[in-house]
Amino acid sequence: MRALSTPAVVLRTREFGESDKVVTVLSRALGKFTGIAKGAKRSRRRFAGSLEIFSHVMLDYRLKSHADMAFLERAVLIRPWHHILGSVERYAAASHVIELADKMTAEREVGDELYALVVAALARLDQRPASATTLRILELAAMTACGYRPELERCARCRRPLPSAGDVRVLQSGAGLACASCGEREKFGPTITAGAAAALGRLAQAVESSRRGELAGDPAAAFADDERLEAETGARLAREIRLATTTLLAPHLRSRLRVLELMGV
Ligand SMILES: [Zn+2]
Repeated sequence: MRALSTPAVVLRTREFGESDKVVTVLSRALGKFTGIAKGAKRSRRRFAGSLEIFSHVMLDYRLKSHADMAFLERAVLIRPWHHILGSVERYAAASHVIELADKMTAEREVGDELYALVVAALARLDQRPASATTLRILELAAMTACGYRPELERCARCRRPLPSAGDVRVLQSGAGLACASCGEREKFGPTITAGAAAALGRLAQAVESSRRGELAGDPAAAFADDERLEAETGARLAREIRLATTTLLAPHLRSRLRVLELMGV
């Protein structure tokens, strides 16, 4: 059993027996995985209170062949999230980030892009107050990172530009948006206004440009313009945009998002 090491974000923990903890993390090296931290509740030397939800840690672990769970040997905090832990709104938004990452992935499946995105999203939330737009950008970027990028800049069926007035259909398959005539052939899926569709297209562009060109590989760039995009979008379209991303996310989630329902943003 070779000792391995990876940076990771803690998604979930639960107590196990007298002194152990079972911890699920999203890591750069292995995607999501679960491990047991023996003596975690007692050992300040090996874990030092670092195995808590949202914690960004450098994790030492071992993998036993044929065992589902890893053995977590040591975790050192990379950086604390003081502002997330100090604000109810930011804590709720960070919970959405974590829950989304957890429900979009299976164990040991996804590569390092989602890990980097989750760290960037938590850093963004720790830095300044979040808006609904921040979370919508996260959702679109997470779908892209997991290989589910929806088509939001043109009709996902006929490939023509989306209409600039009237209604646009949100495809329940998660494929993206469709113009009215293509939408009529799809049985299900809510409609949103052309204005909301255009705003979604702008968010999708922000995500795409953070993955291309000079910004490539820096997921933090996806959030750089969120305040300007929020101002452009306005509160009037926020509900429609949320309805659209919730619909597009649904086929890719293992269960419904609890935090989103509670937050109402
Ligand atoms: Zn069409």
